[in-house]
Amino acid sequence: MLTKDSAFEINPSQNSSIDKVDFDNIAFGQVFSDHLFVMDYVDGEWKRGCIEPFGPLSLSPSTMALHYGQAVFEGMKAYRQPDGSVSMFRPGANIARFNQSAKRICMPEVPEDIFMQALVELISLDEAWVPYNSQSSLYIRPVLFATDSHVGVRPSFSYKFIIFTCPVGQYYSKDVRVKVETHFTRAAKGGTGAAKAAGNYAAALLPTKLAMNEGYDQLLWTDAESHKYIEECGTMNAAFVIDGKMLVPSTSETVLSGITRDSAITLAKDLGIDIESRMISVAELEEAAQKGLLQEAFGLGTAATVSVICTIGFASGDYDLPDISTWSIAPQIQSALDSVRLGTGEDKHGWNIPV
Ligand SMILES: *Cc1c(COP(=O)(O)O)cnc(C)c1O
Repeated sequence: MLTKDSAFEINPSQNSSIDKVDFDNIAFGQVFSDHLFVMDYVDGEWKRGCIEPFGPLSLSPSTMALHYGQAVFEGMKAYRQPDGSVSMFRPGANIARFNQSAKRICMPEVPEDIFMQALVELISLDEAWVPYNSQSSLYIRPVLFATDSHVGVRPSFSYKFIIFTCPVGQYYSKDVRVKVETHFTRAAKGGTGAAKAAGNYAAALLPTKLAMNEGYDQLLWTDAESHKYIEECGTMNAAFVIDGKMLVPSTSETVLSGITRDSAITLAKDLGIDIESRMISVAELEEAAQKGLLQEAFGLGTAATVSVICTIGFASGDYDLPDISTWSIAPQIQSALDSVRLGTGEDKHGWNIPV
């Protein structure tokens, strides 16, 4: 079917699965909306995109992405607004980062206007999938991967760009216990740590699993050279409060530059919070913890939003953060972020883009 006012070919789903979804109890990332956006890059150009029913893709066993990891992705969200409409949160920032990731992994960029149009049309078509509950949202997953059927390492000539969406509730159902990782490495200088490249996550699975065996939920990665400086959590950026001051590890080529992190810094400044973005050493954190000055620790990311860290595992032992009832900064950031995203407060930075 060709819809006259669409930039894409639209092949609508004939049997929606929305009635089977319990929107009050959604497992993160396991429920998928009815439609998928697909666009192929062949012979040096992007073909016309298509919106089709969500379902399996047919791929050759020699699809290059499966062998050599040439794949990048994004994670962003759309929120139900008080008037029933739907807004995406800072999609332009995700599109820009997606294309930077693509460049690093030697893939073609997706034209920004087509990307944005695809988001708007896909989410409009699956509008009913955007949850109404204020703890929930529509998670949006764009992915770009190499599709040449070829054995042998080289950049692919053909690529597939897809976008699908999932209604989601909370990512972590409880507070997070993190371990300061001082052996394994997530990202080294000159590597791909600043790209949302699929392989980065594969490399982090074993170290994370080993930490989970010790009773932690996530790693707090340190720099690859000295393991002395805090980098990030691997799916979220980190923030700390020491003696009333908010400290955020600076971004670099080994840290993913989070949009939630950037938003939190901007909102913290709006709120008059004393904040600094700089290198933070493990020793500084540990010393603050020992002196009782480490007051808050939290993760910042689209999937998990503001995640309370309840325990930090140092080489010398675990430090339990003070009870959340004593925290001041993380709750302010969470509520300021929520009020923009949910449309209940002023959006003075123009972050919400209606679909
Ligand atoms: C996606 C991601 C983040 C968080 O980025 P947001 O833009 O806030 O979602 C942080 N670290 C890593 C490694 C990530 O992949």
